Amino acid sequence: MVIESKKNQQELEIANKQLTELSTLDSLTNIANRRTYDHFLKMAWDQSIVSKAPISVIMLDIDYFKLFNDEYGHQCGDECLKKVAEVLKNRGYRATDLVARYGGEEFIIVLGNTNNSDALKIAENVRLKIEALRIPHQLSLANKWITASIGVSTIFPTINDSIKSFIQTVDKSLYLSKEHGRNQVSFLEHQVSQT
Ligand code: GH3
Ligand code: MG
Ligand code: MG
Repeated sequence: MVIESKKNQQELEIANKQLTELSTLDSLTNIANRRTYDHFLKMAWDQSIVSKAPISVIMLDIDYFKLFNDEYGHQCGDECLKKVAEVLKNRGYRATDLVARYGGEEFIIVLGNTNNSDALKIAENVRLKIEALRIPHQLSLANKWITASIGVSTIFPTINDSIKSFIQTVDKSLYLSKEHGRNQVSFLEHQVSQT
Protein backbone atom coordinates (compact mmCIF):
# COMPACT_ATOMS: atom_id res chain seq x y z
CA MET A 1 0.00 0.00 0.00
CA VAL A 2 2.81 2.37 1.00
CA ILE A 3 4.84 1.33 -2.07
CA GLU A 4 1.81 1.90 -4.29
CA SER A 5 1.27 5.37 -2.88
CA LYS A 6 4.96 6.26 -3.36
CA LYS A 7 4.72 5.10 -6.98
CA ASN A 8 1.66 7.28 -7.53
CA GLN A 9 3.48 10.20 -6.00
CA GLN A 10 6.46 9.71 -8.33
CA GLU A 11 4.20 9.42 -11.37
CA LEU A 12 2.48 12.62 -10.35
CA GLU A 13 5.79 14.40 -9.98
CA ILE A 14 6.92 13.24 -13.44
CA ALA A 15 3.60 14.29 -14.98
CA ASN A 16 3.87 17.64 -13.26
CA LYS A 17 7.41 18.18 -14.52
CA GLN A 18 6.30 17.30 -18.05
CA LEU A 19 3.43 19.76 -17.78
CA THR A 20 5.77 22.52 -16.62
CA GLU A 21 8.10 21.79 -19.52
CA LEU A 22 5.18 21.82 -21.93
CA SER A 23 4.20 25.29 -20.84
CA THR A 24 7.73 26.71 -20.77
CA LEU A 25 9.38 25.07 -23.79
CA ASP A 26 8.72 25.42 -27.49
CA SER A 27 7.54 22.01 -28.70
CA LEU A 28 9.43 22.03 -32.01
CA THR A 29 12.86 23.27 -30.93
CA ASN A 30 12.79 22.38 -27.24
CA ILE A 31 14.14 25.77 -26.21
CA ALA A 32 12.25 28.31 -24.09
CA ASN A 33 9.02 29.59 -25.59
CA ARG A 34 7.71 33.15 -25.86
CA ARG A 35 5.94 32.95 -22.54
CA THR A 36 9.14 31.94 -20.71
CA TYR A 37 11.00 34.73 -22.48
CA ASP A 38 8.43 37.35 -21.38
CA HIS A 39 8.70 36.17 -17.81
CA PHE A 40 12.49 35.95 -17.84
CA LEU A 41 13.02 39.36 -19.43
CA LYS A 42 10.83 41.03 -16.83
CA MET A 43 12.86 39.42 -14.04
CA ALA A 44 16.22 40.24 -15.66
CA TRP A 45 15.05 43.81 -16.31
CA ASP A 46 14.01 44.39 -12.69
CA GLN A 47 17.27 42.87 -11.53
CA SER A 48 19.25 45.22 -13.81
CA ILE A 49 17.43 48.25 -12.42
CA VAL A 50 18.38 47.26 -8.89
CA SER A 51 22.00 46.39 -9.70
CA LYS A 52 22.41 49.25 -12.22
CA ALA A 53 23.79 46.73 -14.70
CA PRO A 54 23.39 46.65 -18.49
CA ILE A 55 21.09 44.22 -20.22
CA SER A 56 21.44 43.29 -23.90
CA VAL A 57 18.96 41.62 -26.21
CA ILE A 58 19.73 39.89 -29.51
CA MET A 59 16.91 39.27 -31.99
CA LEU A 60 17.48 36.91 -34.88
CA ASP A 61 15.38 36.19 -37.96
CA ILE A 62 16.17 33.57 -40.59
CA ASP A 63 16.55 35.09 -44.06
CA TYR A 64 14.17 34.19 -46.88
CA PHE A 65 12.67 31.39 -44.85
CA LYS A 66 9.38 31.41 -46.72
CA LEU A 67 11.32 30.68 -49.92
CA PHE A 68 13.18 27.90 -48.08
CA ASN A 69 9.88 26.23 -47.14
CA ASP A 70 8.58 26.67 -50.68
CA GLU A 71 11.69 25.08 -52.17
CA TYR A 72 12.50 22.28 -49.71
CA GLY A 73 9.17 21.67 -47.95
CA HIS A 74 7.78 22.52 -44.53
CA GLN A 75 9.33 19.45 -42.89
CA CYS A 76 12.81 20.53 -44.01
CA GLY A 77 11.90 23.96 -42.66
CA ASP A 78 11.15 22.42 -39.28
CA GLU A 79 14.49 20.56 -39.31
CA CYS A 80 16.27 23.79 -40.14
CA LEU A 81 14.62 25.59 -37.21
CA LYS A 82 15.73 22.77 -34.90
CA LYS A 83 19.34 23.05 -36.11
CA VAL A 84 19.39 26.81 -35.66
CA ALA A 85 17.93 26.43 -32.16
CA GLU A 86 20.65 23.88 -31.40
CA VAL A 87 23.36 26.35 -32.44
CA LEU A 88 21.87 29.02 -30.21
CA LYS A 89 21.40 26.67 -27.28
CA ASN A 90 24.91 25.23 -27.39
CA ARG A 91 26.72 28.51 -27.20
CA GLY A 92 27.26 28.25 -23.48
CA TYR A 93 25.45 30.84 -21.43
CA ARG A 94 25.35 32.15 -17.92
CA ALA A 95 22.43 31.71 -15.56
CA THR A 96 21.49 35.32 -16.33
CA ASP A 97 20.97 34.53 -20.05
CA LEU A 98 18.06 32.99 -21.91
CA VAL A 99 17.60 31.73 -25.48
CA ALA A 100 14.01 31.49 -26.71
CA ARG A 101 11.93 31.00 -29.82
CA TYR A 102 10.27 34.37 -30.28
CA GLY A 103 7.96 33.47 -33.13
CA GLY A 104 7.96 31.39 -36.36
CA GLU A 105 11.55 31.77 -37.64
CA GLU A 106 12.59 34.32 -35.04
CA PHE A 107 14.71 33.74 -31.97
CA ILE A 108 15.71 35.98 -29.09
CA ILE A 109 18.62 35.95 -26.64
CA VAL A 110 18.46 37.88 -23.37
CA LEU A 111 21.87 38.61 -21.88
CA GLY A 112 21.82 39.85 -18.32
CA ASN A 113 24.73 41.97 -17.10
CA THR A 114 26.18 42.20 -20.62
CA ASN A 115 27.44 45.35 -22.32
CA ASN A 116 27.07 46.30 -25.99
CA SER A 117 30.49 45.14 -27.18
CA ASP A 118 30.14 41.70 -25.60
CA ALA A 119 26.60 41.36 -26.98
CA LEU A 120 27.83 42.27 -30.46
CA LYS A 121 30.58 39.64 -30.27
CA ILE A 122 28.05 36.99 -29.25
CA ALA A 123 25.68 38.04 -32.05
CA GLU A 124 28.41 37.86 -34.70
CA ASN A 125 29.54 34.49 -33.39
CA VAL A 126 25.98 33.16 -33.64
CA ARG A 127 25.62 34.56 -37.17
CA LEU A 128 28.81 32.80 -38.29
CA LYS A 129 27.75 29.52 -36.69
CA ILE A 130 24.40 29.57 -38.48
CA GLU A 131 26.17 30.20 -41.78
CA ALA A 132 28.61 27.39 -40.92
CA LEU A 133 25.71 24.92 -40.73
CA ARG A 134 25.85 25.09 -44.53
CA ILE A 135 22.16 24.31 -44.95
CA PRO A 136 21.64 24.80 -48.70
CA HIS A 137 19.21 27.56 -49.67
CA GLN A 138 19.47 28.09 -53.39
CA LEU A 139 16.67 30.67 -53.55
CA SER A 140 18.21 32.94 -50.92
CA LEU A 141 19.47 36.27 -52.18
CA ALA A 142 21.78 36.59 -49.17
CA ASN A 143 23.94 33.49 -49.66
CA LYS A 144 23.88 29.90 -50.95
CA TRP A 145 23.18 28.79 -47.37
CA ILE A 146 20.69 29.48 -44.63
CA THR A 147 21.62 32.78 -42.97
CA ALA A 148 20.13 35.03 -40.33
CA SER A 149 19.74 38.76 -39.86
CA ILE A 150 20.42 39.96 -36.34
CA GLY A 151 19.59 43.06 -34.30
CA VAL A 152 21.13 44.02 -30.99
CA SER A 153 20.59 46.73 -28.40
CA THR A 154 21.74 47.38 -24.85
CA ILE A 155 20.25 49.36 -22.01
CA PHE A 156 20.98 50.29 -18.39
CA PRO A 157 17.31 50.23 -17.44
CA THR A 158 15.80 52.59 -14.88
CA ILE A 159 12.27 52.68 -13.51
CA ASN A 160 11.45 55.27 -16.19
CA ASP A 161 12.20 52.89 -19.08
CA SER A 162 9.76 50.51 -20.70
CA ILE A 163 10.60 46.98 -21.79
CA LYS A 164 8.26 47.33 -24.74
CA SER A 165 9.99 50.40 -26.09
CA PHE A 166 13.43 48.80 -25.64
CA ILE A 167 12.35 45.67 -27.54
CA GLN A 168 11.05 47.94 -30.31
CA THR A 169 14.59 49.31 -30.59
CA VAL A 170 15.98 45.76 -30.85
CA ASP A 171 13.38 45.04 -33.52
CA LYS A 172 14.39 48.18 -35.43
CA SER A 173 18.05 47.12 -35.38
CA LEU A 174 17.03 43.75 -36.85
CA TYR A 175 15.14 45.64 -39.54
CA LEU A 176 18.34 47.57 -40.36
CA SER A 177 20.15 44.27 -40.97
CA LYS A 178 17.34 43.19 -43.32
CA GLU A 179 17.41 46.51 -45.12
CA HIS A 180 21.18 46.48 -45.59
CA GLY A 181 21.23 43.09 -47.32
CA ARG A 182 20.55 40.49 -44.56
CA ASN A 183 23.06 37.99 -43.08
CA GLN A 184 24.51 40.68 -40.82
CA VAL A 185 24.41 42.12 -37.31
CA SER A 186 23.22 45.67 -36.55
CA PHE A 187 23.29 47.60 -33.31
CA LEU A 188 20.95 50.44 -32.50
CA GLU A 189 21.32 52.77 -29.53
CA HIS A 190 18.12 52.90 -27.49
CA GLN A 191 16.73 56.44 -27.40
CA VAL A 192 14.67 57.24 -24.36
CA SER A 193 11.45 58.84 -25.55
CA GLN A 194 10.97 62.38 -24.26
CA THR A 195 7.34 62.53 -23.16
P1 GH3 B 1 12.90 37.73 -44.53
O1 GH3 B 1 14.22 37.44 -45.17
O2 GH3 B 1 12.45 39.15 -44.82
O3 GH3 B 1 12.87 37.45 -43.07
O4 GH3 B 1 11.82 36.81 -45.25
P2 GH3 B 1 11.16 35.48 -44.70
O5 GH3 B 1 10.65 34.70 -45.87
O6 GH3 B 1 12.11 34.77 -43.80
O7 GH3 B 1 10.00 36.04 -43.80
P3 GH3 B 1 8.43 35.84 -43.89
O8 GH3 B 1 7.89 36.51 -42.65
O9 GH3 B 1 7.91 36.31 -45.20
O10 GH3 B 1 8.17 34.29 -43.80
C1 GH3 B 1 8.44 33.55 -42.65
C2 GH3 B 1 8.22 32.11 -42.99
O11 GH3 B 1 8.51 31.28 -41.85
C3 GH3 B 1 6.81 31.81 -43.40
C4 GH3 B 1 6.40 30.67 -42.51
O12 GH3 B 1 5.74 29.66 -43.22
C5 GH3 B 1 7.70 30.14 -41.97
N1 GH3 B 1 7.54 29.49 -40.66
C6 GH3 B 1 7.13 30.05 -39.50
N2 GH3 B 1 7.08 29.13 -38.52
C7 GH3 B 1 7.46 27.94 -39.07
C8 GH3 B 1 7.59 26.61 -38.55
O13 GH3 B 1 7.36 26.31 -37.38
N3 GH3 B 1 8.02 25.66 -39.43
C9 GH3 B 1 8.30 25.95 -40.73
N4 GH3 B 1 8.72 24.98 -41.51
N5 GH3 B 1 8.16 27.18 -41.24
C10 GH3 B 1 7.75 28.17 -40.42
MG1 MG C 1 10.26 36.91 -39.48
MG1 MG D 1 12.77 35.72 -42.01
